[in-house]
Amino acid sequence: MSGIDLFRLNGKVALVTGGSKGLGRSMADGFASAGADVVICSRNADEVKRVADLLRETTGRKIIGLRCDVTDPEEVNNLVEETMDRMGKLDILVNNAGINIRGPIEKLSLEEFEQVMNVNVCGPWLCSRAVIPHMKASGYGRVINIASTVGVVGLPGRTPYASSKGALIQMTRVLALEWASEGITANAICPGPFITPMNEPIINKPDGQRLIEAVPMARWGELEEIQGAAIFLASEASSYITGSTLFVDGGWTAH
Ligand code: NAP
Repeated sequence: MSGIDLFRLNGKVALVTGGSKGLGRSMADGFASAGADVVICSRNADEVKRVADLLRETTGRKIIGLRCDVTDPEEVNNLVEETMDRMGKLDILVNNAGINIRGPIEKLSLEEFEQVMNVNVCGPWLCSRAVIPHMKASGYGRVINIASTVGVVGLPGRTPYASSKGALIQMTRVLALEWASEGITANAICPGPFITPMNEPIINKPDGQRLIEAVPMARWGELEEIQGAAIFLASEASSYITGSTLFVDGGWTAH
């Protein structure tokens, strides 16, 4: 295989957590358009099934929507087992489900800090742990952790979120080392600011404006602009890349 064929995902099965909205939905769409069958999950059963139906209609691929809270070990194990039962294999995991609770440290509770760490760090850890036996058995795997530019750049009002994304980048490096000889790669994508439901509270506010001022391209990312990086890291095209962090951030980290 060479050239553009390296990017095709035909015959692959991808699991995208938090695939009902925003970046996760866009990546699921991108994978399906590249030829993969896709399982998406979120905590809202009706919504995730509705989005899976839509993606199936528009892409013609096999798309399944399953309810799962990634912080619950039993639900995560069931998600992976159902994926294996219904798809027969699992090649690509995107740990995308995430939340953000903003505010200065003195206004945040420990429960809020723990909530963010639980979804953004424990969730990817649980999902990675659940898929790895299947990837090891097949000798192939791609794990993509959706971290954030804020995992490496400081931003006021983001102690829970920035801490969680920094941890996820480190988790990615350790997983890459653990799996390097098994045909399984682990990489992180660090998006800059994208227009998604997560950012609705700040899009037309000073907080959102400050983000855009930090971005040399001086604009929000469009949803489809995450797809190239995700397809690349999910495909054969990235076969010699592991433990890396790919910034899709309009140049934010070039400063
Ligand atoms: P979003 O629009 O809020 O979507 C988040 C998705 O995750 C939804 O499908 C949500 O569905 C799901 N989710 C949340 N908690 C979950 C849980 N415990 N278990 C399962 N699913 C859960 O977020 P987004 O902006 O697309 O962000 C996606 C990822 O990119 C996140 O990890 C985020 O931190 C990261 N990121 C985003 C930006 C950005 O500018 N948007 C920048 C950098 C990094 P339910 O709520 O229905 O469960």
